Amino acid sequence: MAVIIDGKKASGEILRFLQLMVADIKLKHNIAPTLAVILVGDDPASKVYVSKKEEMAKKIGFNSLMINLPDGTGQKEIAEKIEELNQDDEVNAILVQLPLPDYLDSHALINGISPMKDVDGFTPYNFGLLATGKESVVPCTALGIMKLLEEYNIQLAGKNVTIVGRSNIVGKPLAHLMMAKNATVTVAHSKTENLKEHTLNADILVCATGKKHLITSDMVKEGAVVIDVGITRGEDGKLAGDVDYENVKEKASFITPVPGGVGPMTIAMLAYNTYKLFAIQKAFPEGSK
Ligand code: NDP
Repeated sequence: MAVIIDGKKASGEILRFLQLMVADIKLKHNIAPTLAVILVGDDPASKVYVSKKEEMAKKIGFNSLMINLPDGTGQKEIAEKIEELNQDDEVNAILVQLPLPDYLDSHALINGISPMKDVDGFTPYNFGLLATGKESVVPCTALGIMKLLEEYNIQLAGKNVTIVGRSNIVGKPLAHLMMAKNATVTVAHSKTENLKEHTLNADILVCATGKKHLITSDMVKEGAVVIDVGITRGEDGKLAGDVDYENVKEKASFITPVPGGVGPMTIAMLAYNTYKLFAIQKAFPEGSK
């Protein structure tokens, strides 16, 4: 039976630490980090994610600037809004909630965020730094997974890692972070042949596909560490991951639940990145957690 990796607990500790740092800075300097979030349209899931981010910002003591633009807002208008935030010294971190409506060019808009304020680490500049092993702002979910592994003292050097899912926001950045820690990384995707062969070879298996219970226990090596990023909502309204949790937990050595595993860490890393950008801009000490 696997050790259940408690993302709520780990994220709670990070958030409490940041809360104290922010309170101290507020007391001494009367300033606080400001996170600006742009939401375009009214996609219900995006609205929920944005409200969670606002809630987190309030809890930590950040200033939050929520910018809701109606569906149909033009590319140029959004680009100008981003540039306005880039130029605003009061704003330390900028996030554009994805996915954007189809008529918009997401890549161009993300590219318009100043790398110094790119809290998600999605700009080509920050991604390039990550890919070349340099200090950068790292996408929140990938960073959260690395922090969880660290928290549970799970070593990466020399291990076989299989990441199922190659998105720019999870799979790709995580592959770079894990390679930098000397893991041997395989990245699988929807066109991968014999997926099971790759998952069975993994000492550490990460799944980020959004396909409910894609990973069954026969696909997991005995004693593997299993990290489940996927979130799908079933017809019963319950959240499920990519992994058949009930059966896989009998075989794995460590496993993340859904919910309560990677999800809370993503939010905690957004707080961490917001504070980090603020600290760099204002030359305050960075958080060590
Ligand atoms: P994307 O849709 O961008 O990427 C999904 C990836 O999974 C793609 O690379 C796709 O392959 C691959 N894939 C899909 N089906 C299969 C399959 N049958 N076998 C192997 N690979 C497959 O999703 P995201 O990366 O944005 O998100 C993935 C999941 O993680 C979602 O459920 C999302 O909600 C969740 N998520 C959770 C977060 C958290 O905080 N817990 C944060 C971010 C995401 P291909 O490239 O070939 O299409």
